Amino acid sequence: MSSNSISELREQVRGAVFTADDPGYDEARAVHNGMFDKRPHAVLRAEQVGDVVAGVNFARDAGLELAIRGGGHSAPGFGTTDGGLVIDLSGMRYVHVDPKASTARAAGGATWGDYNYATHAFGLASTGGIVSTTGVAGLTLNGGIGYLSRGQGLTIDCLRSAQVVTADGQIRTASADDNPDLFWAIRGGGGNFGVVTSFEFTVQPVKDVYVGLFFYELEHAGDLLRFFREWIKDAPREYGGFPAFQIAPPLPFIPEDRHGDTLCVAIVHWSGPLDEGDRAMQPFRDLAPRVAEMTDVWPYPALNGAFDAIFPKGIRSYWKGAHVVELTDAAIEAHLEHGSKVPEVSATMHLYPINGACHDVASGDTAFAYRDATFATVIVCAWQDPAVDAERRQWVRDYYDAIAPHSEAGGYLGFMAEDDAGKVQDNFAGNYGRLTEVKRAYDPDNLFRLNQNIVP
Ligand SMILES: Cc1cc2nc3c(=O)[nH]c(=O)nc-3n(C[C@H](O)[C@H](O)[C@H](O)COP(=O)(O)OP(=O)(O)OC[C@H]3O[C@@H](n4cnc5c(N)ncnc54)[C@H](O)[C@@H]3O)c2cc1C
Repeated sequence: MSSNSISELREQVRGAVFTADDPGYDEARAVHNGMFDKRPHAVLRAEQVGDVVAGVNFARDAGLELAIRGGGHSAPGFGTTDGGLVIDLSGMRYVHVDPKASTARAAGGATWGDYNYATHAFGLASTGGIVSTTGVAGLTLNGGIGYLSRGQGLTIDCLRSAQVVTADGQIRTASADDNPDLFWAIRGGGGNFGVVTSFEFTVQPVKDVYVGLFFYELEHAGDLLRFFREWIKDAPREYGGFPAFQIAPPLPFIPEDRHGDTLCVAIVHWSGPLDEGDRAMQPFRDLAPRVAEMTDVWPYPALNGAFDAIFPKGIRSYWKGAHVVELTDAAIEAHLEHGSKVPEVSATMHLYPINGACHDVASGDTAFAYRDATFATVIVCAWQDPAVDAERRQWVRDYYDAIAPHSEAGGYLGFMAEDDAGKVQDNFAGNYGRLTEVKRAYDPDNLFRLNQNIVP
């Protein structure tokens, strides 16, 4: 690729274009997962939809590998490339709220922190994830699992429309009325179909929530998981949260002599009337003695940012995920064996409930196929020291191998690692065939292939 061509790209766009010779190149090429240290030919930090169109046309015509980056959180580092072009949308982060229409429109590079800040001002929210630095784009395209899922459904269930730049450089609307096949596919089909430059969501009243963090001794982990399995089946939809394994961080409400101990934890919230919040937490007090407990009213964005500090940008990480229809006793035994060996404060297993409103939508209604699953399991390890890469990945792999026989064949797209390309069909289950048809219609040459790829 000649420097002339990059000059041509620069002339067409408003955003900055970084190549290896430019100051800021190293910062521009960095993604969240420190395991990926790739050197793109160029990074286009798009500022407007026109920049995205120019970038797509440029990469396609030059035959460059194209990486699309929203929040940069992809576990397999899909937001970067060696030698190709990155279209980085972090320069496009506006969020406009229309309280009258109960909608919010977020640009393709907004994070959940940006989104929640904007909607919280109006006392409104949509389902987002559990870390505020995650991109709205990548998370939504995967389906979107978070604190509010049981009440509002997956993030895609809050999506009304999107603006998409497809491989031919056209700007299209995807909604129930416009390009409905594309709208169906982007709701859970990942980044396969084009660059989403903005998302229009419905918002619902959620301002402050009642939060409970309950830490228990490991010997009660089985009680916690068995309790959660039964209780969540018909718990009111105002409840969100999940059980987890967690090395106790140095939080002020945890006794100092327990910092660093491996415990199990229930992270729960109640988004119903706040004066019912304390009573709503009672089941988690009753189930076992607590090593530590914190209950309080938090602004919803604070809950969404509670884990940010243990997943800073640049930390190395490795992930696995599996959907679970029925959490069996055998599965719980596997969790007890491996969850008790979490090797880092930033290593965990979260068992996210995806019932409630997520089950109001049928498996074929959006590309997200596992509408019958009760839980989305994620096993994640994040660490700083490259010397322990192999060990940390092995913990995740051993844990996953132990739960896999008790889980569905597929898991959540956003929790897949770089070595999970072989699981793409399982992850889309019965929707894979239709997804390949939509892929053929909008991206027949597979320009958008740095993702959990649907081969056209
Ligand atoms: C710390 C952490 C916490 C997480 N928590 C949750 C959670 O609570 N719930 C949940 O559902 N998931 C969660 N995830 C997983 C998350 O869904 C994926 O990592 C997701 O890809 C992140 O989106 P992003 O925009 O930040 O990532 P990026 O790395 O920017 O993008 C990932 C991929 O998404 C696609 N993409 C991104 N932006 C666009 C765009 N504008 N248009 C088209 N395609 C695009 C591309 O294929 C890209 O390769 C978490 C991940 C991390 C690292």
